[in-house]
Amino acid sequence: MKTILKIQLIFLFLTAISYSSFAQFKWPHGAKAAICLTYDDALDGQLDYAIPQLDAAGLKGTFFCTGNSFCLYKRMNEWRTAQKNGHELGNHTLFHPCLSIRPDGTKADWVKPEYDLVNYSLPQMINELKTANTLLKAIDGQEERTYGYTCSDISAGGVTFTDSIKGIFIAARNDGPIPETMNGYNRYKTPSWGVNEPTAEELIAYVNMARDKGTIAIFMFHSVGGGYLNVGAEQHKKLVEYISKNRKDFYCATFKEVMKYIRDNK
Ligand SMILES: [Zn+2]
Repeated sequence: MKTILKIQLIFLFLTAISYSSFAQFKWPHGAKAAICLTYDDALDGQLDYAIPQLDAAGLKGTFFCTGNSFCLYKRMNEWRTAQKNGHELGNHTLFHPCLSIRPDGTKADWVKPEYDLVNYSLPQMINELKTANTLLKAIDGQEERTYGYTCSDISAGGVTFTDSIKGIFIAARNDGPIPETMNGYNRYKTPSWGVNEPTAEELIAYVNMARDKGTIAIFMFHSVGGGYLNVGAEQHKKLVEYISKNRKDFYCATFKEVMKYIRDNK
């Protein structure tokens, strides 16, 4: 009898351990996954196509604005209005520095030597990020900011700065596959998918994959409706409408909102 009781207790103990290890992360309102729609470089197509489509669907996006974007300068009032309407303006540096030698060894010819992250120092990068926050605060008055790593590069002058930015940002978007679990999720190196001419089906499959895993899908868009690393306006619209139609499954919010939720509910 005693042995049976012991076995039962051990079984209960193991069940409790496995439950706590594999329990699904609880998203708001019973949603099955989180989705962040993020857009880089402050480009015209984002104002012309992405934001009107998001507004029509009642969804909010995050726009990682580069300080030297001509569109940010020329259409600043539209960016300001977008933030007032619930979209997020995120930090994407002032000058968009990147590593000219990519992690796979290829050369990014468009990176000028003065904006090559290998030639930056850590203090220089931190200063640039802080000054970009000042610029964005002048546009939208916000003090809490998130960051989108330029080219998903996380080092300056050979020094990794993912930890150095923790006092400046709530979170930072990197690249990588959808996480299998939210256990150990690193807000300062969040995976995302940098799309390039995806089909609507591929975009929808990506959010469904996050739903299956109970985790998070972050899109990294650039041009919308034509340009580099493009998503077609029609494809984007189909994704936005799909998320909107299935909103009970998807917690779709700005990167800042979702990251604060993860921070406060881990
Ligand atoms: Zn960029």
